Amino acid sequence: MSGNSAFNPFEMARAQFDKSADLIGLDEGTRDFLRTPMREYQFSIPVRMDDGSTKVFAGFRVQHNDSRGPCKGGIRFHPQETIDTVRALSMWMTWKCAVADIPLGGGKGGVVCDPHNLSAREQESICRGWIRQLARDIGPTIDVPAPDVMTNAQHMLWMLDEYEAIQGGHYPGVITGKPVGMGGSLGRTQATGYGVIYTLREALKELEIRPSDTTASVQGFGNVSQYAIELYKQLGGTVVCVSSWDQEEMTTYAFKKKDGVDLDELRGITDNFGGIDKAKAKDLGYEVLPGDDWLIQDVDILIPSALENQITGENVESISKGVKIVAEGANGPTTPEADAVFHQRGVFCIPDFLANAGGVTCSYFEQVQSNMNYFWDMEEVLGKLDMKMTSAYMAVSGLAKKQDLYMRDAAYVVAINRVATACKNRGWV
Ligand code: GLU
Repeated sequence: MSGNSAFNPFEMARAQFDKSADLIGLDEGTRDFLRTPMREYQFSIPVRMDDGSTKVFAGFRVQHNDSRGPCKGGIRFHPQETIDTVRALSMWMTWKCAVADIPLGGGKGGVVCDPHNLSAREQESICRGWIRQLARDIGPTIDVPAPDVMTNAQHMLWMLDEYEAIQGGHYPGVITGKPVGMGGSLGRTQATGYGVIYTLREALKELEIRPSDTTASVQGFGNVSQYAIELYKQLGGTVVCVSSWDQEEMTTYAFKKKDGVDLDELRGITDNFGGIDKAKAKDLGYEVLPGDDWLIQDVDILIPSALENQITGENVESISKGVKIVAEGANGPTTPEADAVFHQRGVFCIPDFLANAGGVTCSYFEQVQSNMNYFWDMEEVLGKLDMKMTSAYMAVSGLAKKQDLYMRDAAYVVAINRVATACKNRGWV
């Protein structure tokens, strides 16, 4: 990870918010209300480890705003998780649900842990412990968690099971990203990555560039990245470089093939956390480069799909002059300093909470299907997802053109206006 340790994502989220609040001319009271989460939970999760010892893990849930509906957002398992990261991510979820125009608010959760070093049983205990601490404060009408960095459908099912054991009933709407056949929606796994590409497709149309004439470099090889690559290739694009985390060396590497990486080939040599096997990649003819090299490739499109704080004031100048579009698959990958350089260079940015809103939009579909107890086929899910993402993109790009705004600013204006209106109409501010 190229981010520096002094970086505080919550300060960044607030700085982005303040800038947009100025643009809108938001009144002081609403501004104060929206720059701070409504509720925060911090707790300890004691876990009996496989070796008989007890280890205590720090857990978080932050509910930023629920004026438009129950809070919604994932749970991250990450060794560097902090309350400020979760605060920032919960605020971004509020804007994400608003820009996607789904009736949900913003929340986020986390546990400071590294699942690489935990057995399945230990991970199950963390999931159940997280729910035991929060069973009174989440729920289908209150706050609905989902998967995120290093959490998956199995984790969601353990959490659902614990919640239902405590509440004594079936509550499939309490969590999304569940396995298909256990209340999950077809397409949920693909949704975030595909959503990134639906918005990228619209941006390419707007810029009158044919996808088949483009190349891309992608940071990360987890769930978001893999499905973004899949759909981008279907549109005719060529991914020349991807980067991934190397757990053994605790660093990242970039994997390059000039004529385009082969997704299936790479998936075949990748662990469950998106870590590509270096030696096997070399055997398959990949150039193995330092991880940060994903950023300096001579491509048309960059798709950061790993973590926050990756494109910064320090490395933004190394981006090739040929880069025309940055589609942010990750949450908060670009710092404000780097963003100013994009803006000034005329790089077209599809901002994170618009580009990656496909995941939560499909989570919303999952809730709808769970409530009806009637599940749609893949075509229906992806058709509806495409429609929602395209109209979210259109609302933002329409405003950007009309008011001559940078795309990130336009996305903030759309989202904050919707949330502020909900708060005002409820009589909160
Ligand atoms: N974790 C995903 C995100 O950052 C999805 C959240 C959800 O489905 O609730 O958008």
